[in-house]
This record gives sequence, structure tokens and C-alpha cells, in this order.
Amino acid sequence: MEKVDNLYEGKAKIVYSTEDHNLVIQYFKDDATAFNAQKKGSIKDKGICNNQISAKLFQLLEKHNIPTHFVELLDEREMLVKKLDIIPVEFVVRNIAAGSIAKRLGLDEGVELLNPVVETYFKNDELGDPLINDDHIKVLNLASPEQIKICKDMVLKINTVLVNYFRALGIDLVDLKLEFGEHNGAILLGDEISPDTSRLW
Ligand code: ATP
Repeated sequence: MEKVDNLYEGKAKIVYSTEDHNLVIQYFKDDATAFNAQKKGSIKDKGICNNQISAKLFQLLEKHNIPTHFVELLDEREMLVKKLDIIPVEFVVRNIAAGSIAKRLGLDEGVELLNPVVETYFKNDELGDPLINDDHIKVLNLASPEQIKICKDMVLKINTVLVNYFRALGIDLVDLKLEFGEHNGAILLGDEISPDTSRLW
């Protein structure tokens, strides 16, 4: 499958159209950003690692009946995926307190949370991806309550599969950011699952 047009260039990836309007190619760059893109740099071969790790984890989730956009790896930096209408909500699931939740709620970093905590953020770079709740999602018309319920249920299922997978490797999945989108009426997990979008200790 060949790349046709550059549809979108983000901080970490470029999305290309293909001859098939149902499919796009994700190209993983080496660019790295931190603190809402205020800090920028490049990590050699990061894109290769994130592409390969994401492919492996998408395949693992598919085996557990979680629908994802993954179709196949094309080469070391490129992945063929189903084209999604991305829901502009970032879902974060947390198992251990770290980063913003520790600061916001006054928790010590590293404290295990009694149960996984699911948070939603408005996917909007200009606003710095603010934390939002279900009422905000409704007011902003970002997704229907049914879609949010489906996504949150999938987030918890994905978290369970990945916590167990990483635990067997001696790694704690501290937290994880997930994005979903619609494809032919179905909600699929999209974007990537990598050390860029998770904390692995
Ligand atoms: P962020 O995701 O943090 O808002 P970004 O837009 O810079 O930042 P990148 O990962 O560089 O993120 O860009 C990839 C873009 O492609 C994201 O906006 C993501 O939502 C979108 N995307 C992911 N999977 C698909 C897909 N299957 N179809 C269409 N767009 C997708």
C-alpha cells in the first residue's frame, strides 16, 4: 500500500491517505515533545520503537477481542490502519499516582490507586488538553453519552490486558493515554500505544 497525500502532521506522527479511502498510513517520527510541546527534541529511532511496540500491543488487544484500527505493519516506521473519525477526547487510565494526578490531588508519586482511575481530556492543543468531565463533553458536543460509555468500558478492558501483559515482564503500567474513533459505525481504538503515551516503570 502506497502513501498518497499528507493528511495531517502531528507532533509524533504523519498520517497519509492511501488509494483506499478506508485506510491511512501512520508514519512514526523521531520528534519528541514534553510539557504540552513547550519542549521539543528528537530521539534517534524513537519512531521505529513506537511503531513496533504499538503494532505488538494492538495485536495483543485484538487477540482479547478489543477492536483496534491496526491492519498491518508496512515497514519499520509505517503502519497501515483503518481511517477513523477521531473522537476529540483523550482517555487516560491510571493505576499508580504519577504526574498531574499526584500534583492535583496531593498524592505521593508511586502510590498504588485502589482502583484504576479513568480521566477524560479535551484533545485541543491550543487549550493545552484540559481535564473535562461527561457534562463538559456533552456541552462541547464532543461525543454522545453512549460513545463515551463504550470508550470507557474499552479503556478498562484494555488496561486490564496491558497491566497483566507488562506485569509478566516485570514492568508496572502506571498510566496510559488512549484515543478512539469511528469507522463505519464502529468505535475502534486508534492512535498508538507506546512509551510516548504511557508511563512504564
Ligand atoms: P495529540 O495526539 O497529542 O493531540 P498530535 O496531533 O501531534 O497530538 P500525532 O500522534 O503526532 O499527535 O498525530 C497523529 C494524529 O493522527 C493524531 O491527531 C491522532 O488523533 C490521529 N489519528 C490516530 N489514528 C488515526 C486513524 N486511524 N485515522 C485518522 N487519524 C488518526
